[in-house]
Amino acid sequence: SSSHSCIEAKENGVTKKLPSDSVINLDHGDPKMFESYWRRMGDNCAVVITGWQSLSYFSDITSLCWFLEPELAEEVRRLHRLVGNAVTEDRHIVVGTGSTQLFQAALYALSSPDADEPMSVVSAAPYYSSYPTLTEFLRSRLYRWAGDAHGFDGDKPYIELVTSPNNPDGFTRKTVINRRGGKVVYDLAYYWPQYTPITIQADHDLMLFTVSKSTGHAGSRIGWALVKDKEVAKKMTKFIELNTIGVSKDSQVRAAKLLRAVSDSCKQLGSQGSVNFFDNFRRLMINRWECLRNVIRGNDLFTLPEYPKEFCNFAGEFTEAHPAFAWLKFKEEIKDSESFLRAHKILTRSGKHFGVNKTYVRISMLDREENFEILLERLSKISAKQQENG
Ligand code: PMP
Repeated sequence: SSSHSCIEAKENGVTKKLPSDSVINLDHGDPKMFESYWRRMGDNCAVVITGWQSLSYFSDITSLCWFLEPELAEEVRRLHRLVGNAVTEDRHIVVGTGSTQLFQAALYALSSPDADEPMSVVSAAPYYSSYPTLTEFLRSRLYRWAGDAHGFDGDKPYIELVTSPNNPDGFTRKTVINRRGGKVVYDLAYYWPQYTPITIQADHDLMLFTVSKSTGHAGSRIGWALVKDKEVAKKMTKFIELNTIGVSKDSQVRAAKLLRAVSDSCKQLGSQGSVNFFDNFRRLMINRWECLRNVIRGNDLFTLPEYPKEFCNFAGEFTEAHPAFAWLKFKEEIKDSESFLRAHKILTRSGKHFGVNKTYVRISMLDREENFEILLERLSKISAKQQENG
């Protein structure tokens, strides 16, 4: 309406008026910022699936993961080789309906059906907010959520979840319990050059990846696990067989096409004018973080983490992390920072969901440009007002 002050946003070259009093939802890590890149790719990344395709349950009966489309496996290996973020040689690939299904498959595969009591599942706080919920919702007799890995003692078997870089705070992580025989799931959803320097080629026993955060196609629901141990890979495959009898072929074929487009863009093999995917998003994330740090500079209401500069083997330069989430810590007077920001029409996720207190909030950095700009505008107002009030 005319009473609203408006900021202008361009999408598809069309200028849209956005009421600046609309609520922005930055609670989820919904990767909508990737849309404009893929839009520019146009029909080059379209996938046509005719009526006679994808009828069979089976993709490759010679493969351990019999519902894995060979072309997806090939593109997964190719992209990891190109980026240098994970070893794929001598690894089994298990495809899942998002890494969420693979996470559950991993818990199933790593726990012991004959144990007297459920296996403890832990992760160092702040941990990804879905881990406790996913671990507990079926009240399994195989495993149970045991909270912050820092507080875990006793000599019982356990599964430690290591998210690196971490959701919510963006830091690179290692295991905190280092017991022999300890089982570890490495959730490497954000170990891509747009978010963090690629410092090593990860070669852990069980690593999870997803298109949701790599290419931005969360809606296709495709993730993959790189698994060293054959029996673990078999059990994970069994879980998915019992759970969904495999994973949508349509989605796998599409994911293969998108990963191929990303790899081609890095080799400049893409269509004319195709832009290096990771360079493009690295630049955008660097820019967003710079803007965010600028608007909150000088305020003492809240702070952001600082990340060390490290050499990124992919980019060939020293760079710091520019995570998918901003992990904001408010000063203690603000008892509930999620409510505080909600009053300013910014929806975020409270620290309490990540195993820490409510002075923290997590804010998505992956929304469309127009919403990110509204976020900047609102934070800068909060920040300026607070400085005024001394
Ligand atoms: N792991 C982490 C650390 C995540 O942040 C997310 C998505 N928010 C997932 C897993 C789930 O990804 P997917 O969409 O592949 O199920």
